[in-house]
Amino acid sequence: MAKQNRRQFVGTSAALLGAAGMRLPLWAQLAANGSSPGLPVLLGVDYYPDQTPESLWEEDARKISEAGLTNVRIAEFAWALMEPAEGRFDFAWLQRAVDILHRNNIAVILGTPSAAPPPWLTEKYPEVVEVNEKGEKLHPGGRRFTCPTNATYRRLSLVIATEMANRFRAHPGVVGWQIDNEFTLGSSPRCYCNYCRAGFQAWLRTKYGTLDKVNQIWGTNFWSQHYSDWAQIPVPLPSGGDPNPGLALDYGRYQSFANASSLGEQLAMLRKLCPKHFVTTNNIGVPYDQIDMRELYAKLDFVAFDNYPGFFEMILREQGQSGPQLSQGISSMIAMQHDFGRSILRKPFLIMEEQSGKAGQRTFSPQPAKGQVRLWSYQAIAHGAMGVNYFRWDTATFGAEEYWHGMLNHDRSKSPAFDEMLQTVKELKSLGPDFLRSEYEADVAVYFDYDCSWAVKIQPGHNKLTYAEQVTTWYGAASPSHTGVDLIGPGSDLTRYKIVFAPVVYVLSEAQAEKIRQYVRGGGIFVTNFRLGVKTESSQIIKQPLPGYLADVMGVTLEDYVPVYAQNPHVKFGETLGGAEVECGIWADILKPSTAEVLATYSSGQHSGKAAITANTFGKGKAVYVGADLHAPDLFRVLGTFAASAGVKRPIDVPMGVELTVRQSGSKRWMFVLNHNGEAQTINLPGTFKDAVSGESHSGATQIPAYGVLVLTT
Ligand SMILES: [Zn+2]
Repeated sequence: MAKQNRRQFVGTSAALLGAAGMRLPLWAQLAANGSSPGLPVLLGVDYYPDQTPESLWEEDARKISEAGLTNVRIAEFAWALMEPAEGRFDFAWLQRAVDILHRNNIAVILGTPSAAPPPWLTEKYPEVVEVNEKGEKLHPGGRRFTCPTNATYRRLSLVIATEMANRFRAHPGVVGWQIDNEFTLGSSPRCYCNYCRAGFQAWLRTKYGTLDKVNQIWGTNFWSQHYSDWAQIPVPLPSGGDPNPGLALDYGRYQSFANASSLGEQLAMLRKLCPKHFVTTNNIGVPYDQIDMRELYAKLDFVAFDNYPGFFEMILREQGQSGPQLSQGISSMIAMQHDFGRSILRKPFLIMEEQSGKAGQRTFSPQPAKGQVRLWSYQAIAHGAMGVNYFRWDTATFGAEEYWHGMLNHDRSKSPAFDEMLQTVKELKSLGPDFLRSEYEADVAVYFDYDCSWAVKIQPGHNKLTYAEQVTTWYGAASPSHTGVDLIGPGSDLTRYKIVFAPVVYVLSEAQAEKIRQYVRGGGIFVTNFRLGVKTESSQIIKQPLPGYLADVMGVTLEDYVPVYAQNPHVKFGETLGGAEVECGIWADILKPSTAEVLATYSSGQHSGKAAITANTFGKGKAVYVGADLHAPDLFRVLGTFAASAGVKRPIDVPMGVELTVRQSGSKRWMFVLNHNGEAQTINLPGTFKDAVSGESHSGATQIPAYGVLVLTT
């Protein structure tokens, strides 16, 4: 039912967007035959009529329309204006804003406002305010300071969302919904209040059934933690010693569930009241979220998230990076989020907030260089986005984000990126229906598992070991192959990939191990590293020799696992890996091969001569164990060697900091050559290609300007 009706949305929005000057054939066709994905390309801005004098709305709508934009997202922080007192609703202003936008052929995505409650709410119901990991109650005044479990807050969130839905369900200008905004993105991503404690106890009762099971699985005989009543079970607040790791991991899962089920209440209502509208939410993306995005988006129509590459630049510069290495790092961090967004539902995704200027609250990211906003838009589309919403239209002159710059400056003059946005929108519309039908294909997968992420955070083993950094580094090592990369998880089908890279698989269930076993047996190449299979999904240490369930597949057992603090051992690569001698970083798994071949050995320290990297032929495939923590360039070499052996071939050689991403439809390919460097670069093309944007032909040595884009077709 909902599916049929969402198809009808395509028809509606095609008319809308058509009126806005978009090209129609693909959408019209999709609407006619109902073939998925059934969603159009959206090019919009995040817009705040609630923060803008009404006298400017008409002018804004006209200019947004004249810019060629098709849609806006509005109202996600406007609760206080929509419900000025409990049960008293005022949508007249929003109606006027939506009417004006609609008259100007701008489709509207409405945001439900539960990320920031009004003061009357917290004054009347102070119990809805979140408690942080130190047990301190937060204070109203910012945003994201409410409890995800609290029934009162969830009820009031649902009430305002329902009132919005009733008011706008039939408005022809509204095409879809964003529920809430940036779940868990606050000073305390998780809540530790008494409501969450009771919610956790109820969730455990559903999950485990009996207290005996909870006691057994968590091992509560340790430190006298045996629970004789569900009500005794605590949340992981400061308690004189670290919490039980099983309890702590389950608490992370519970908090994710609490947020996702809170979203689920609004979703069920919207499906009922607004069956013609799409529904999504917006988050900051992997690996920074403290919420399982796979769980959160499971029942939504598509994935949407933020893209603020300026923050990546700040992080990488603080790590001392510069030049092409920095450009490559930024490109890779953006690409990883896009690849995750696409991989969650295996569908086109939307950038709900795309950086368009300096961004930040107290401090600001760098101003995007000339060309970067266009470059990032193309990068999103290359990785499978169906659209980009630039954040934001105008720049606020008040509030905590008054320096979060938009398309208009504080004085409403054009921002430095304004004309670039105009150009980009025009260009993207010209790519045509064939292109819109094309898909991003991946030969390579990087494995990302929230259980591993949370469990490593609970017990990193070494204060410098973070799962996010490991995954980012491994993704960064895989991406220069310039063949597609999916970011997959425990539920994913491995068999579609030539090679799977899986760093720090610290938590591994027997079922997941079996999936990996079958993948390798059938011919897959599985490459992993230290801390493999240490814990079961219950967070108990595996009772078998490490790597536990996968010992047969990897063809090794561990002699020891060693956090490294000083005198980093050296690792001597064998011939297959090029023969260099490199340094081991913060961790060394000491491998004892049973059937595996040794590809590198520790060459200094007390484990000198022992195996550091092994490869095991298992069935028709291969399982590679990288026991030593390698610095990024050495890891790149090792992973590159195995990617090549798996038959993963880069389409064209490109310089560092230049990204190559391919979309294809049948035999037709669109090669996006994206120069993330601040200097022009030269690539050598093996043949003649036509640039789908400029229409120019290129062959042989071809220059691509600083932050330039080529979309090459044959
Ligand atoms: Zn709570």
